[in-house]
Amino acid sequence: MRQVKVSVSGYPRIGKQRELKKWIESYFNGELSEQELINNAQELRLNQIKLLSQKGIDYIPSNDFSMYDQVLDAAVMLNIIPSQYQALNISPLGKYFAMAKGYQKDGADVKALAMKKWFTTNYHYIVPVIDDTVEIKLNAQKPVEEYKTAKALGVETKPVIIGAFTFVKLAKFETINREAAVNKIIDAYIQLFKEFASLGVKTVQIDEPMLVVDLEAQDIELFKSIYDKILKDKNGLTVLLNTYFGDIRDIYQVVVDMDFDAYGLDFVEGKKNLDLIKQYGFPKDKQLFAGVINGRNIWVNNFEQSLEILQTLKQYVNPENIVISTACSLLFVPYTTKSETKLSSEILAQFAFAEEKLDELNALRELFAKDDYKSDKKYQENIALIKQKAQNKAYIDLEVREKIKNLTEKDFVRTPDLETRFEIQYKKLGLPKLPTTTIGSFPQTIEVKRNRARFKKGEITKEQYDQNVKEFIKQAVKYQDELGIDVYVHGEFERNDMVEYFGENLSGFIFTQNAWVQSYGTRCVKPPIIWGDVKRLQPISVPYSVYAQSLTAKPMKGMLTGPVTILNWSFPREDIPLQEICFQIALAIKEEVLDLEKNGIKVIQIDEAALREKLPLRKSEWRQYLDYAIKAFRLVHSSVKPETQIHTHMCYSEFGDIIKDIDDMDADCISFEASRSNLELLDDLQANGFKTAVGPGVYDIHSPRVPSKEEIKAAINKMIDKLGVKKLWVNPDCGLKTRGWEETLKSLKNMTDAVKEIRAEKGL
Ligand code: GLN
Ligand code: ZN
Repeated sequence: MRQVKVSVSGYPRIGKQRELKKWIESYFNGELSEQELINNAQELRLNQIKLLSQKGIDYIPSNDFSMYDQVLDAAVMLNIIPSQYQALNISPLGKYFAMAKGYQKDGADVKALAMKKWFTTNYHYIVPVIDDTVEIKLNAQKPVEEYKTAKALGVETKPVIIGAFTFVKLAKFETINREAAVNKIIDAYIQLFKEFASLGVKTVQIDEPMLVVDLEAQDIELFKSIYDKILKDKNGLTVLLNTYFGDIRDIYQVVVDMDFDAYGLDFVEGKKNLDLIKQYGFPKDKQLFAGVINGRNIWVNNFEQSLEILQTLKQYVNPENIVISTACSLLFVPYTTKSETKLSSEILAQFAFAEEKLDELNALRELFAKDDYKSDKKYQENIALIKQKAQNKAYIDLEVREKIKNLTEKDFVRTPDLETRFEIQYKKLGLPKLPTTTIGSFPQTIEVKRNRARFKKGEITKEQYDQNVKEFIKQAVKYQDELGIDVYVHGEFERNDMVEYFGENLSGFIFTQNAWVQSYGTRCVKPPIIWGDVKRLQPISVPYSVYAQSLTAKPMKGMLTGPVTILNWSFPREDIPLQEICFQIALAIKEEVLDLEKNGIKVIQIDEAALREKLPLRKSEWRQYLDYAIKAFRLVHSSVKPETQIHTHMCYSEFGDIIKDIDDMDADCISFEASRSNLELLDDLQANGFKTAVGPGVYDIHSPRVPSKEEIKAAINKMIDKLGVKKLWVNPDCGLKTRGWEETLKSLKNMTDAVKEIRAEKGL
């Protein structure tokens, strides 16, 4: 039988029980020393490598581990550490975290670097900044350590490195001499290859996901010029050019002719990769790492489909050189279904988390090695399993399907138009100029979390639980009274996660106990699984919003999660189109909106934090996505009264290129992140005549740092200069759930004071 090899592109790293998160937090609280953190992290990492080795994975990744983020790791590997961090009198690890989270201690006060979403995932990376204070040179300690410590256990690994091209495209250049900086980066990679070779590394995996986006001629030139230099002397290394999240149609022919030894292609999301190989062939003497195991969804692999791809590949690629691989890193799926004790075995059998995907790789390798695999028991069982799900009628809701079929254009249009509504709402709500608000959540304190945990465990009754939530709300209202906020929020104390909370009250969703996925740094989320048709089961947020509103005469914002975000932050089913799932969720949330309105809530925020992140990487596919995403949002609010003010919120500011679509959502107001990105979006808004009222975040909530009043005033004044006062709101850039009350109150006080002063200065 042929020996087929298997590879894993990257593995989760936060720990099955989120151990790494907890250690890092203890380290910040001073409960764990730096050395203890490093030791613990190393043990976690090596245990995982051992597991992959026991599972017989031939190409095991190293350096895919991270204390915070792999792009930040790459920046540090290139010594790209701007002077404000270099200047801190703390350890290298301290500086690393300062870049990630900001640092405010002992008189020092530096902001964190910006964070952005990693391609179309819900993972955030840190944006490296290359200014004239950085001295680019190789600092290979981390990849070397990770390789060596695994080797000491007897495990050969392939170091995973973010490729120079992707790195250059992601980094922010603030230097006058970009070309010199790029050359230094190239030199560092050349140096790195030398070090790897001297250590005895056999294969190095260069991740270049940037190859799957639309590439211009100059991008291709840049890629070539970078790798012609780096590959000039490979020092005997096998260099794997790894790509994922799509196909490499713009550069396939170029890269196969270059001096790489192996290529990693994604056959799950990379629609055209197979055609590219069919059309242009594949070099006989090179390896193909065929990504057929989905690294972004949790359903069991469809062996029939995967083997069909592999069989086709066999006609074009030397079969000896086909390595079966994950389509991307497994960072985006949870650890193992074994941690789930509450789901039936029938349901769990439909899922493959990271560890189960390792078994799937092994199953596929066995099957692929056989000519008559179709009669194999493993194969047959898989077919039966997939069929079983497809034929399960219990998850079809005919009523919902009928409603969707009967939607007409009118269901997507709100009347009257935005300007008319603005006037009506302005009078009705009686808000001052530069109204202040927050994005929804307030600090999730230990008491808040304990309340939920105790209720879940059955230690307190629903009445006690509700009573406690009401106490938290009362306190939050009191704080907002004291701060003089204009539009209140109730604080979201009943929510663990904004998607999970809604999903729990909708049919068609399945929840896990431990299926955590890293979202950024120490933050993890537990995405629900959309299993069947979706419908609202009962009023969700209405009772708390109504209670909160009863405590104040100020408008209390109803707080909902939008359909696109619920969809994008869940693991979707794959048997019906995403648009259909999205509309089903939209109808459910619509019921909630109308219910809030009926119960006296005058301002309703529908968060679409995840709308941008699933925007396809290729422009040619944007329309299809935006058409249903924007429509779904409009469907949610199209039938509210003119005087009800609809807000939305987005956690990012890179919507420069879809501004018109954001305006088309037809919300009355949108808040978004702006502070970390230096207010760049404001120019775009101005240039495009953006009509929706805006609340660009005036400070960054992702860091515990308290912004000064002056700083906030400067930000607001800049916003006024660009956008005028009429439709400007003042708010932080996201919800405050990850912060503590102390810093929150100080920051908000500075914010409301800043607004008061500006109103006085400008006579508003
Ligand atoms: N309303 C949510 C909150 O404040 C919004 C969170 C988000 O945008 N991610 O927590
Ligand atoms: Zn946000």
